[in-house]
Amino acid sequence: MNNFTDLSLSAVLKRNLAAHGFENPTPVQAAAIPAALERRDVVATSQTGSGKTMAFVLPMLSQLLEPPVAAGVQAVILTPTRELAIQIHEVFGKLAAGTPVKAAVVVGGLNENSQLQNIRRGAQVLIATPGRLNDFLERRLVKLGKVHLLVLDEADRMLDMGFLPTITRIIEATPEARQTLFFSATIEKSVAHLIDKHLKDPVRVSIGSATKPAADVDLHLYEVDKTRKHDLLRALLHREQGSFLVFARTKHGAERLAKRLATEGVKATAIHGDRTQNQRNRALKGFQVGDYRVLVATDVAARGIHVDDIAHVVNFDLPQVPEDFIHRVGRTGRAGRRGVASTFATREERSEIRRIERALTLTLARQTEPAAAPEAVILPVAAKAWTPSST
Ligand code: AMP
Repeated sequence: MNNFTDLSLSAVLKRNLAAHGFENPTPVQAAAIPAALERRDVVATSQTGSGKTMAFVLPMLSQLLEPPVAAGVQAVILTPTRELAIQIHEVFGKLAAGTPVKAAVVVGGLNENSQLQNIRRGAQVLIATPGRLNDFLERRLVKLGKVHLLVLDEADRMLDMGFLPTITRIIEATPEARQTLFFSATIEKSVAHLIDKHLKDPVRVSIGSATKPAADVDLHLYEVDKTRKHDLLRALLHREQGSFLVFARTKHGAERLAKRLATEGVKATAIHGDRTQNQRNRALKGFQVGDYRVLVATDVAARGIHVDDIAHVVNFDLPQVPEDFIHRVGRTGRAGRRGVASTFATREERSEIRRIERALTLTLARQTEPAAAPEAVILPVAAKAWTPSST
């Protein structure tokens, strides 16, 4: 399949794809969509940024649009974080425009009444994090007895977060005759077990290596003293163009770094677990539309940030585990564009770097520090560059 028009999708879906400029499926879409349309179970290992969201949203919509279109929950997408759920909902909104199919986002940290209202109004699709959906199930606020399509998105991450018992309860609340689409960056033992237990003769789709960053990301390494990291970041901001997603190890570190950049005139904001959902949404939206050039994030908060055109990912602090390196770096170089990922490491962290390189069988290109940013070049503080966490 080279073009979406080759698929037997309804006219409205084809129109919506064209309206958003989607012409050619990505490899994971080309492999997974035809199998999903045939109602087969699918297990796909593919990298972040590979287009997996449309790989499950398109066949889901296609099935739900088959007449007669009925109200009530028939499909569930389980995903690890609120941010991912919201971004899946955005993709859903684009593709479902002009159709009677509606989705309800069911996630913790946001008001449950409006979520319940959307369900009661007849939403056919739930885009949910496991905790909140399970809570609704236990309180008998939602029924999953008519679900015929279940999507597990970023399954490995959900298991890492300790959601196995919750996911199992949700799966068991759906009919056994359902179709299951399963997406995971890695297939470790616990993931394989979940697949064996709940999927039926799945079609396996493996795109590229799940343990390697996309080929179109340049991986740079700067050995730098801890006290000089900030200056190095400023020098890169001065030398390079485009937006920066910067990873810090702690919530406090992320907050401090964004604040300091903002006082230096860089349009920067932060996203981490101590900020409210509204603050996170505002920060993410502001970064998406270019109000902020820099978004500083922790690993957990950054799960599922889908922003096109992130030119530069910076590992200001090293990730805790090599897999997080892949997830971080996967935020740039998306959908065929080139990106740069710069890792800052101190001399003492050399062994950590070697561990990452060995685990991922890659070599980071050692760089020398660019010239320091002149003080005056960074623009004066913009009023909206920082949203205080007290708002
Ligand atoms: P995902 O892996 O679902 O997060 O998608 C990564 C990015 O690729 C998103 O920004 C999508 O808008 C974009 N994308 C997904 N499918 C396509 C496609 N067929 N053509 C062009 N861009 C796409």
